[in-house]
Amino acid sequence: MATKRCDVCGDDVRIGGGIADLWNFEFSSTQGMTLELTDDTEHFLCFDCMERLPGDREPTEADIDALRRDPDAFRDGDDGEDDDL
Ligand SMILES: [Zn+2]
Repeated sequence: MATKRCDVCGDDVRIGGGIADLWNFEFSSTQGMTLELTDDTEHFLCFDCMERLPGDREPTEADIDALRRDPDAFRDGDDGEDDDL
């Protein structure tokens, strides 16, 4: 089993390794994937961070950057106020 570092949170992420996994791909053993962005950059993201990307448009490197600085940058239903805490 190989690991790869998430470009956003920096966590080591488990990915499927070996040629067998190419033909028998199981998301249960893989916790991230490489995204090819519309600006021709590639970033490896864990699924957690992928879920945090904006869902209504193609993410760009600027979005990856924004997530690095603030993991909740694109979170829905939260305007950044902490009145629930
Ligand atoms: Zn991540």
